[in-house]
Amino acid sequence: MKLILRDKKKDTSDVFSFIFEPEVSVSWKAGQFMQYTLKGSTPDDRGTDRFFTISSAPFEKSIVITTRFNRDKSSTFKEDLLNLKLGSTIDAMGPWGDFVVDYTSKINDLVFIAGGIGITPFRSILMDIYHNNYPIKVTLLYFNNNDEFPYKDEFNEIKDKELLSILYSTNKFSENDITSIKSYKEKQYYVSGPKGFVDLVVDTLHSLGVDNIKKDFFPGY
Ligand SMILES: Cc1cc2nc3c(=O)[nH]c(=O)nc-3n(C[C@H](O)[C@H](O)[C@H](O)COP(=O)(O)OP(=O)(O)OC[C@H]3O[C@@H](n4cnc5c(N)ncnc54)[C@H](O)[C@@H]3O)c2cc1C
Repeated sequence: MKLILRDKKKDTSDVFSFIFEPEVSVSWKAGQFMQYTLKGSTPDDRGTDRFFTISSAPFEKSIVITTRFNRDKSSTFKEDLLNLKLGSTIDAMGPWGDFVVDYTSKINDLVFIAGGIGITPFRSILMDIYHNNYPIKVTLLYFNNNDEFPYKDEFNEIKDKELLSILYSTNKFSENDITSIKSYKEKQYYVSGPKGFVDLVVDTLHSLGVDNIKKDFFPGY
């Protein structure tokens, strides 16, 4: 399908969102991703295709890609994405993916753990939960290398003290981040971010005897 670029937004000094209007109506579940093809300049060895989570929630209708740009050197794909003119189209396939919340599940006490740009599926899922008033309790542990947390303002607006608590951290993830959660063994965990981060969190959870884990990792960083 074709997606038409309608807007670009600078979320932090190195994170940008690209807002696309699909040419045909597309339905997806919060947390899913698509594959995008950008035929711009001569591609480098990483090629013309990328996977990105849809950071928007289904009720928002637009397909939004949110991604981090390397300060020194970006791939040709990212350079072309940044330079894409409003009104241009790109090709997309999908949506796919099972990093989604089962709203009918009996476990409605969730812990989301994000490393950096791994926040994108959680942005979609959180907006979906609060837009639809699902009675789901979420603890979000959000780790970032610096104190520019994408979506922080937006999360603070939807923050419902009964149902959502957020820890923002610029420290390295540690076991203590889990054990300080009350009844941590009884929750369903979702972990998203670069591979090294996801491996560290999942290994830590396993060592604490936690097995209710869904993971989504972003290669390429
Ligand atoms: C299911 C899924 C969902 C994803 N969702 C997201 C998402 O929501 N947001 C997101 O940002 N990413 C997401 N990703 C990761 C994304 O697909 C890219 O792999 C990632 O953004 C890196 O992009 P890039 O290769 O364009 O490199 P860049 O981001 O441009 O660069 C990353 C690093 O690689 C180096 N580099 C760049 N080009 C080259 C090259 N040609 N050769 C060697 N080194 C190079 C850079 O210098 C930098 O250090 C997802 C991946 C998957 C599989």
